[in-house]
Amino acid sequence: MQVTTTIVEYQKTIEQTSFKNLKIGFVATMGALHQGHVTLIDLAKKECDIVVCSIFINPTQFNNPDDFASYPKTIDKDITLLQQANCDILFVPSVEEVFPKEQKLKTYSLNGLDLLFEGEKRPGHFNGVCNVVHRLFQIIEPQKAYFGKKDFQQLAIIQHMSNQLNLGIEIVGCETARETNGLAKSSRNLLLSEKAKSDAGIIYSSMKEAKSELEKIEIPEIILAAKNKLQKIPNSKIDYVSIAETSMLEPIYKRKEGQKIVMLVAVFVENVRLIDNLMLNE
Ligand code: AMP
Repeated sequence: MQVTTTIVEYQKTIEQTSFKNLKIGFVATMGALHQGHVTLIDLAKKECDIVVCSIFINPTQFNNPDDFASYPKTIDKDITLLQQANCDILFVPSVEEVFPKEQKLKTYSLNGLDLLFEGEKRPGHFNGVCNVVHRLFQIIEPQKAYFGKKDFQQLAIIQHMSNQLNLGIEIVGCETARETNGLAKSSRNLLLSEKAKSDAGIIYSSMKEAKSELEKIEIPEIILAAKNKLQKIPNSKIDYVSIAETSMLEPIYKRKEGQKIVMLVAVFVENVRLIDNLMLNE
């Protein structure tokens, strides 16, 4: 695997004869890599000629400075994991390389998709995500880019941005990798105690229960039951639990025929904010 830290270095690497004119699959990450990231790399590897991975903790998507400061960093381990996953090129830029001081951040029109859930709780978050993803797309120039369904709203927003700006990059959504107790793998899990990781399995079981109750009880009752279950996680606080249709992410309270719906959950466990989701009718 070739490790590049500047745009010039990346461009030189991609111009090498062995990489020239190949179909690039791109996986953007913030590091502290785990099996969930590997799922994305594996699919990119299958569908493209080469895989480029980036590690960049994007300051523009953090609205809470403490959250930014405490974000886990495990670069040596990450490089080993990427080598094992057969990633071809790693791009690890500095903040200045991605966001030069003289360049202003863009404002994206996201059709309201950015105002709910994560967007409501973390103002400006998705504009920061779009800035970094758009910028990385311009640098890496991939044909396909892989994102996790674990970040359901982020995937919807990136798909929207990519269509809106006609970027000509195919956005591929990948299934969520989970621990054996159902907890979605996440870099933030490194900040949890072993006990909390085990307790947080309730997030997945509460969503699975919601799915199994879908034909039996109404949406508000399903949400209430999930909240009651989630409250049993020690040292936790629910941020939101909602059921939404999947196109505009509008919360729903009554099901409509043929509508695809997803349960979206955000919970603080030991003050670490965990998000997850489950499609309820597929
Ligand atoms: P992050 O490093 O958390 O920004 O994540 C980088 C990419 O990996 C994003 O597209 C995430 O949605 C995806 N991802 C994170 N966790 C998982 C997971 N457990 N399963 C699948 N994809 C994931």
